[in-house]
Amino acid sequence: MAANAPITQDVRTIPRKLPEGGRPNLVGLTRAQLGTALIDAGTPEKQARMRVGQIWQWIYHKGVRDFAAMTNLAKDYRAMLDSRFEIAVPEVVDRQISADGTRKYLVRIAGGHEVETVYIPETDRGTLCISSQVGCTLTCSFCHTGTQKLVRNLTAGEIVGQIMLARDDLGEWPQPGEGMGERPRLISNIVLMGMGEPLYNFEAVRDAMQIAMDGEGISLSRRRITLSTSGVVPEIARTAQEIGCMLAVSFHATTDEIRDRLVPINKRWNIATLLDALRDYPRLSNSERITFEYVMLKGVNDSDADARRLVRLIQGIPAKINLIPFNEWPGAPYERSDWDRIEAFADIVYKAGYASPVRTPRGEDIMAACGQLKSATERGRLSRAEIAAHTGLT
Ligand code: SAH
Ligand code: SF4
Repeated sequence: MAANAPITQDVRTIPRKLPEGGRPNLVGLTRAQLGTALIDAGTPEKQARMRVGQIWQWIYHKGVRDFAAMTNLAKDYRAMLDSRFEIAVPEVVDRQISADGTRKYLVRIAGGHEVETVYIPETDRGTLCISSQVGCTLTCSFCHTGTQKLVRNLTAGEIVGQIMLARDDLGEWPQPGEGMGERPRLISNIVLMGMGEPLYNFEAVRDAMQIAMDGEGISLSRRRITLSTSGVVPEIARTAQEIGCMLAVSFHATTDEIRDRLVPINKRWNIATLLDALRDYPRLSNSERITFEYVMLKGVNDSDADARRLVRLIQGIPAKINLIPFNEWPGAPYERSDWDRIEAFADIVYKAGYASPVRTPRGEDIMAACGQLKSATERGRLSRAEIAAHTGLT
């Protein structure tokens, strides 16, 4: 095997508790929903809040999947819970580890559909990239997921479940007797940059992120969660108010003509409308900066004039510009900009006073990089001709 070849390990054989039909899953319920479920199952109303806190800690702080292990609950109460509910996370059916340490999980959800979750380790932190939909309704012409039709929205349990299954795989749950925060976190950041448009699955994403941020569980700060949107304008203010996480926006072009071709949602909400919604976000969410994602496509959006227009457009918005070298996928109708072009573009942006990190492509050897995710079962739905039609290049 070549030194930098990806290591593929089939984990189908690793035993894990699979969802057994019928019993409602507690993973993904908000605290209020969990309380209602417990009361409906016979928990006295006066005790419900305390029981929610106890069960919550077992599930989200300790990573326990078995009611029998919840030793601060009475034995018959544990048995009752076990007969009525389950604690289930989606099943990992395949795990690939890139030469650079990036891990890609192929995750099977109810109905046999598959999504991908990617863990990107860095020296002082680790980022988990999670999916919010199987496929996507949008058809951004440079995005592999965009060639796959929307199959369905993920549930809140399937979204937060991706964090839990990655913690399982990384061995990140606290050991018995170990308190919170004693070890550096392997998953220190979450990005909603996997498959799907998170703002077209707003409620489930919101509930899952509320669970991830809850201080008695996974306990990730809202500043370490970044939601990336292609620009679903009507949901942006709601994101600030109901989630309050960091926002990234797939900007990618500096004229409506080009953005219409790259990010077709621009035909509905154009650049000016999008920028108006973004201007209010930092104040509404009390967060510092918006990240403008900009994919570098050779000869399409990467000129000096584009760089200058970009900084003019975002003037007055606290921002960071994240330049993403295009990640190629089979049949893609674009090429990655040359490195000297990316550097020249970054330089103009930097000189205008913006941080302009170039995102290092990670996990390319296992097709785990941004925009390359696509579920194996649904692969190849659109033909090359259809992709070309979306780009307006025909
Ligand atoms: N639907 C959301 C989030 C998922 S995509 C959105 O569009 O923002 C996450 C990021 O990857 C977006 O900025 C997207 O534009 C970018 N992306 C998609 N395909 C890509 C590719 N082939 N190369 C580089 N970035 C890509
Ligand atoms: Fe969907 Fe985002 Fe890909 Fe566009 S870039 S097709 S919105 S996942």
